[in-house]
Amino acid sequence: ATQAYDDDNIFARILRGEIPSRKVYEDEHALAFHDINPQAPVHILVIPKGRYVSWDDFSAHAPVEEIAGFVRAVGHVAREQGLVAPGYRLLANAGSDSGQEVPHLHVHIFGGRGLGPMLV
Ligand code: 5GP
Repeated sequence: ATQAYDDDNIFARILRGEIPSRKVYEDEHALAFHDINPQAPVHILVIPKGRYVSWDDFSAHAPVEEIAGFVRAVGHVAREQGLVAPGYRLLANAGSDSGQEVPHLHVHIFGGRGLGPMLV
């Protein structure tokens, strides 16, 4: 069973324009904006426009066009930010053990400095 989607989660409200965000990219399938509490010089969140709680929900239930569009958008943002040559890291928390805070799928893009080894 899929976790129910909460239409009042903070990223749903950002998508509806009810809460401001520092937008870096938007298209039909995705919105990208700066994380409010950056952990690296570049820390951007990319979210699909559809109502998906997590990576699990999205990968299992989203139409392939939405998945493809979202993956393209993540890559586009990383390129647009000049991160391809220096490199970058993607991260998606899913569910309770991961500490996922916001129940709308988001991929973190980290870059702008040496990121060190992965912790897990
Ligand atoms: P999670 O822990 O769910 O993977 O990541 C949630 C991220 O969302 C955190 O890095 C947090 O700083 C960010 N965040 C939480 N609330 C807001 C907000 O209102 N605006 C923006 N831009 N980022 C937020």
